[in-house]
Order: sequence, then C-alpha cells, then structure tokens
Amino acid sequence: MQPDASSSTAPSEEGSTTTPSAQATTPPGTSSIPSHTSSAPRTISTGHLYQPNVTSPQRVRRSVSGVTRLLTELSAPDIAAALGPDSVLVLPTGALEQHGPHLPVATDLIIAEAMAERTVAEYGDELDLWLLPPLAYTKSDEHAWSAGTFWLSASTLTAVLTDIGRSVATTPARRLAFLNGHGGNSALLQVANRELRREFGLRTFTLHPGVPPDQGGASPADELGMGVHGGTEETSLMLHLRPDLVDLDRAERWVPEHLAEYRHVRFGGSVSFGWLSDDFGPSGVLGDPTAATAERGKERAERSVEYLGAAFGEVARFDPAPPA
Ligand SMILES: [Zn+2]
Repeated sequence: MQPDASSSTAPSEEGSTTTPSAQATTPPGTSSIPSHTSSAPRTISTGHLYQPNVTSPQRVRRSVSGVTRLLTELSAPDIAAALGPDSVLVLPTGALEQHGPHLPVATDLIIAEAMAERTVAEYGDELDLWLLPPLAYTKSDEHAWSAGTFWLSASTLTAVLTDIGRSVATTPARRLAFLNGHGGNSALLQVANRELRREFGLRTFTLHPGVPPDQGGASPADELGMGVHGGTEETSLMLHLRPDLVDLDRAERWVPEHLAEYRHVRFGGSVSFGWLSDDFGPSGVLGDPTAATAERGKERAERSVEYLGAAFGEVARFDPAPPA
C-alpha cells in the first residue's frame, strides 16, 4: 500500500539531532517537518519509534515523504511551528471490551489505530493530517457484564474529550477528527463534536473505518443486518491485521434470527433501542465470525483507507460559511 512501507519495518537507528540551520541535506534518521511559521525546514530526530505493544508490528508511522506524522514525536516548539489552522489532528478512538472467545478485547483499538496510521501515512502530507495517540478506554457499557471489558461512563468520557479538545485548542490546529473503531462511542462523539465546536471554536468531525451496521452501514446478507460485534467483517479485519490474536477454532455464529422480522426496531432502523450485548444471549458476539477470511479483511482495509482518504479530503477543507 505504501511506496516506502518497507522502510517502516526496518530496524530503527539512533537518529542524530541537528540544528535547524546547520544542514543542507537531511542525514539518515532525521527528517524535515513542514513549518507554517518559518521558511527554513526544521530537522528533527526520528530515531525513536512510538511502539505500544497492542498494535500491529507492521505499523506505518511515516508518511510517504518520510516525515513523522505522529504529532507526539515532535517537541512542543516544533508542534507550534508545524501546525496551522487547517491542520487536522486525527484521534483514533478504540475500545477495550469483550469480543467473544475468538478475538482480543483490544480489537476495536487495534482496528482504529491501524486504519488511522495507514490513512495518515498515505494522505498526511497532502491533507496536513497529524496522528494523535489513540484513546483506548472508552464507552463500552453494553459489555459491562463481561470480564475483560474496561469502560468509562458517558460522563467520564465526555469530560475526557472536553479536556482533550481544550488541549488541542492550545495548538494552532483548529480541526479535530475522531476516527472511531467502536460503534458504542458514536453517539457520544457526536455530542462532543458540538461541545468542542461551541466551547473551543474547533471544527470537529467523527469518522469510522466503515459505517457500523447499527448506524445504517452494510452487514453481510448472511448476518441479516446484525453483524455488529465480532462478526464476519471485524474478524476478517483482525485476521488481516493481527492473525496471531485470532482463534477461529473458538468462533461461533450467533445471529438472533428472530429479530429479522422487525422493520423499524432494528440495527440501523428508524427506531433506535438501548441494548446490552447479553440481551441477545450469552455469546457476546453478534454476527458470523466463521465466514471471516484474511483476504476479505485485506480488501476491507484497503477500501477503508481509500474511503478515509476521500473523507479526510473533505474534512480538511470543510467550511459551512457561505463563500465570501
Ligand atoms: Zn468491535
């Protein structure tokens, strides 16, 4: 997917630190960052990689130009220099929650972060996108009954998002996008979008790697529109991203077929309903993971990054005011 993807998996070297004005060419292990306030390119060390251990070892954190696009690898003065009002800060929101016996509880976190990394790596230079470290603990109370679910209440997460928005507002960037891997966060993120718009003047957005079926997105026909949790699509993505964490021997189809007759009260229907994942039975899964394949996951991931590139293209320039 990346012209320079191979370089992202190469062992890192200690990068030498150079002064902003000393170098005509960029030495190995360093790169220039774009600056909104200075005409001279700045040079920063990129020798240390950010590597939390829950995510893909094939993670891509360099854009096609070789510039780091993980914002927190920059120093504070470099962040102030590199960002402008139309810079887009991309915050992946995951979840830590039960995903049935065949998937790890970090599934949504892994997917959100991987899709964000790939999107920022591919489109970051063109669209001025900057990746923030992900939010792992979010609103997973529909799975609160299960061991392995770690969740924040709606009021706690609202407070966390407000504080993050306040912090973003101290940078020059005025665009903040949540790239959300967990459908249970969506409603609250939309509320936060407006709060942060009003309180801090940020332009705010919520995107998903794929629109969740419980919010009108497609689900494979065989799942009867109910492949919302640990089903075919999500399991396929995990087989592509982290096959070492998937145990298909323990995957079981769990689709509440008696709900298929409901026209209005259904996932993505005109009448929404409050649900807990154990309302549907003891499985913890809603969907059919037995149909999952790594190939399907790879295609889905590639479609996702393509879609996200187009969506961020609009996020980067969206302005609701009438043209002057
Ligand atoms: Zn999930």
